[in-house]
Amino acid sequence: DSRWFAVRVAPLGSGGLVLVLAEDLTEMRRVESIRRDFSANVSHELKTPVGALLLLAETVQDAAEDQVAVRRFAGRMQLEAARLSSLVQDLITLSYVQGEEPLAQEEPVAVADLVADAVDRATLTAQAREIHLGVAVTPDLYVRGDEELLVMALKNLVDNAIAYSPERTKVAISTRVVDDEERPYAEISVTDQGIGIPEPELERIFERFYRVDPARSRQTGGTGLGLAIVKHVATKHGGEVIVWSKEGSGSTFTLRLPLREHPRSLDQSVREDN
Ligand code: ADP
Repeated sequence: DSRWFAVRVAPLGSGGLVLVLAEDLTEMRRVESIRRDFSANVSHELKTPVGALLLLAETVQDAAEDQVAVRRFAGRMQLEAARLSSLVQDLITLSYVQGEEPLAQEEPVAVADLVADAVDRATLTAQAREIHLGVAVTPDLYVRGDEELLVMALKNLVDNAIAYSPERTKVAISTRVVDDEERPYAEISVTDQGIGIPEPELERIFERFYRVDPARSRQTGGTGLGLAIVKHVATKHGGEVIVWSKEGSGSTFTLRLPLREHPRSLDQSVREDN
């Protein structure tokens, strides 16, 4: 690993003295290279559905006489357009959650509501694969933040659990409180009985566009941005996301979020206000 320096030499006075300034550019170059890689990845990911759409549009024109073919190609165009649309939507979400600006919405959020919403939104996908969603939630748990973003993050985890599991298996969503004295937090865990993730890949799966098996992800229609979004939603809320996994037997993804401060005293003051 080489380090990079910018060296500036300035004459100092008239006695032939010079001032040499060396600035470490290693970090700058690293950030720049990550940014370049990301742009290249985005272009590549956009090119695939756009290319498919162009080709399909041409084919539809050529097959205009054949109603059955037209309908079939139109269906595939819809699929590619949907893929393009979720990619663009995920890019917009990611750029927001990666940004420095504070959350636009910050309100008390009931963990039970988060789980119920995410499970609701994932029900159809689960049914299609005959996967049973089991839910066990601690009542009266509150966190603070943007409810829509938190539901989206949790839904990403549930969608992945479904996508990377064989049919007719179970996905369990559970919550618990960790009474850390300094900073109590809520944990929301999603456990599947799926294909699992090989140990060496675990630290990379939260990177943008990183996939353990690109062919499988293309099939499931994922954008490759889901876990990067989950990670940034968690950190933007002062939390984190943790993964345990065993190849061939399943994975657990846990979202850790700081508990809302003094929920009881806040409830009390609301009651008193009324
Ligand atoms: P994708 O759109 O490909 O699912 P994600 O960012 O959501 O993108 O996930 C990145 C990669 O992590 C996936 O391609 C997959 O290889 C792996 N992965 C994520 N969740 C799971 C899971 N529950 N079980 C096994 N592998 C998973």
